[in-house]
Amino acid sequence: MRQYPLEKYRDIGIIAHIDAGKTTVSERILFYTGISHKIGEVHEGAAVMDWMEQERERGITITAAATNCFWTPIRLTHKAKNDAEKQAIRKTHEHRINIIDTPGHVDFTVEVERSLRVLDGGVVVFDGVAGVEPQSETVWHQADKYNVPRMGFVNKLDRMGASFDRSFESIKERLTPNAVAIQMPIGLEANFEGVIDLIEMIAYSSEGEHGEKLIEIEIPANLKDEAEKRRAELVEKISEQDEALTEKYLNGEEITIDEIRAALRKATIANKLVPVLCGSALKNKGVQLMLDAVLDYLPSPLDVVDLKPIKGHDLTTGAEIIRTASDDEPLTALAFKIATDPFVGNLTYFRIYSGILKKGSYILNSSKGNQERVSRIVRMHANKREEVDEMHAGDLGAIVGLKNTSTGDTLCDPEKPILLEKITFPEPVISVKIEPKTKADQEKMGIAMHRLAEEDPTFRISSDQETGETIISGMGELHLEILIDRLKREFGVVANTGRPQVAYRETIKGEGEGEGKFIRQSGGKGQYGHAKIKVKPMEKGKGFVFVNQIKGGAVPQEFISPIEKGIKEALDKGVVAGFPMTDIEVTLYDGSYHEVDSSEMAFKIAGSMALQDGAKKAKPILMEPIMKVQVITPVNFMGDVTGDLNSKRGRIDAMNDRGTSKVIDAKVPLSEMFGYATKLRSITQGRASSTMEFDHYEEVPNNITQQIIEGRKK
Ligand code: GDP
Repeated sequence: MRQYPLEKYRDIGIIAHIDAGKTTVSERILFYTGISHKIGEVHEGAAVMDWMEQERERGITITAAATNCFWTPIRLTHKAKNDAEKQAIRKTHEHRINIIDTPGHVDFTVEVERSLRVLDGGVVVFDGVAGVEPQSETVWHQADKYNVPRMGFVNKLDRMGASFDRSFESIKERLTPNAVAIQMPIGLEANFEGVIDLIEMIAYSSEGEHGEKLIEIEIPANLKDEAEKRRAELVEKISEQDEALTEKYLNGEEITIDEIRAALRKATIANKLVPVLCGSALKNKGVQLMLDAVLDYLPSPLDVVDLKPIKGHDLTTGAEIIRTASDDEPLTALAFKIATDPFVGNLTYFRIYSGILKKGSYILNSSKGNQERVSRIVRMHANKREEVDEMHAGDLGAIVGLKNTSTGDTLCDPEKPILLEKITFPEPVISVKIEPKTKADQEKMGIAMHRLAEEDPTFRISSDQETGETIISGMGELHLEILIDRLKREFGVVANTGRPQVAYRETIKGEGEGEGKFIRQSGGKGQYGHAKIKVKPMEKGKGFVFVNQIKGGAVPQEFISPIEKGIKEALDKGVVAGFPMTDIEVTLYDGSYHEVDSSEMAFKIAGSMALQDGAKKAKPILMEPIMKVQVITPVNFMGDVTGDLNSKRGRIDAMNDRGTSKVIDAKVPLSEMFGYATKLRSITQGRASSTMEFDHYEEVPNNITQQIIEGRKK
């Protein structure tokens, strides 16, 4: 039985740059929702105590991939005179909120992408001193890509140097002009007291050991005019979004609070406005009102049908299938994280888009084509794991003990199969050789790496074809360091690693024709394979496309696929320096065969030869990963930092002031950035910081290509 209707669901993420306060905000959310939900069940004070004790003993499970909690708007409950009244308000207004864990560091692109894929809305937390930080921008753009409606929470207003206005301006300037402040702070730094809700024009503060009690206070006299002015601007901006309201506004008619909220909700869900709130998680201010805003403005699963339709494909016909968020539709779910829990073992986290998942049933993993039995389903709460018999559309939870499911797989009703769009993960850009210290480590390493790769699709394992050595690849130096550290800590595998290597790629810039002829006719059975192809470049990221244009049986049907295989093999080792070749279209248009001597083997070799021949004639080039780098440095080291970036073939995109520091944005080839953190420390006496993430692939300059080719020969 469904407990909460879908419109009372919020599947959201708390998105933030490291250190902005995501952990503190999440802890407060779980704490407040824990108490609110318990009110009426246990005496309030006792419930808080009890809860806090458990906290101390077990720690909150804020690290679960998805945590479930409940919230009723505190602006309603705080007015209740007694528990019975509160209970009554809860009955009609309580919502279920699923909080999806999002990472704070962009080296873990995969974590960001998969969480954005399964959430419907996000609260972006900012540091009220620093405002928008480099990684906030990155995450913001990723959220744009997935059409995620969001709101902002400017945190840490109690800190020295905090400024809501400056942070809000930085949001408008660097992230979106559509941000609207729906609150303003009362005091700042040590005097930060609470917030004024500009929609209701009520000032709120909080009381109690953990700020759990919301109280209304007078709007301070010196802020009244300012608040009125901001409210007028806010109402104008919101009214612009709605025709009926625009008319009312222009006619000077009063617009009600409900109308404002409804219009803001619509605009937020349509990604046209971004409400911004403020507070201090540490000082227990503003978090409960932020939860109210989550219910008021962020979408339920029913609201996102246009933004993120539940779209997939029929496995056999390839036809598009659209499902609606409803329990009555067939089961459609996405596995978005695989985790290992010390108590229950392997957990496959999923989001259900439609239908019902039942314990004991069989589900189809349509990405892998195998069926598995659902033996146990768990729902995560702040302080407990709850076993349930079924889950519904909009729910997030985990299946215990699935064997053959990886991140991004579709789980569905075997009778009504559907394949959802895969989560797209970037290809790794850096790799390193890894060698177990002992024989015993060797065995463990295989199992451990398999497990890690299942959890993290941007982590790849391969072996060097010539030396047989194991190579691991990932999204950055830090990404690989952390994986190697996990090998040691979680799996007890000790390994030596080599120097990190850049994952170069090759492609072609021009078009060309190639011919491959493989003929052996001396002694024994002869060999005959012959293929003629045309090659041409494709858009970045398109990979490889094979087109068969053989007419009149110049090459018999059974040899077409061996030719394609040969071409694919040749693509693994490009013609410039032996790196994988990509973004290339190959058209097979002619060839010939021999009645007796032709074989699959011969055509495979001919295909491979033709590709090499064609690629050489089509302006082949080497491509390297370019990183987006941001350095924050005191002004006096600015020259040293930019000089160093220039010497690394870097391009400076922008230089801006931030308080007393300079912010440098640049694009630099990854091959030049190894050990950059250490280098930066030494040239700035440890006073600068940097972040880096993969941006795009770009052609390697000629002289460097020559060096790389020379290096490969050795
Ligand atoms: P995360 O890295 O985003 O998860 O950030 P944390 O929640 O761990 O916070 C980073 C640091 O900022 C910690 O030392 C917190 O105690 C502190 N912090 C978090 N919220 C606030 C706040 O509202 N005010 C102040 N002054 N410090 C805060």
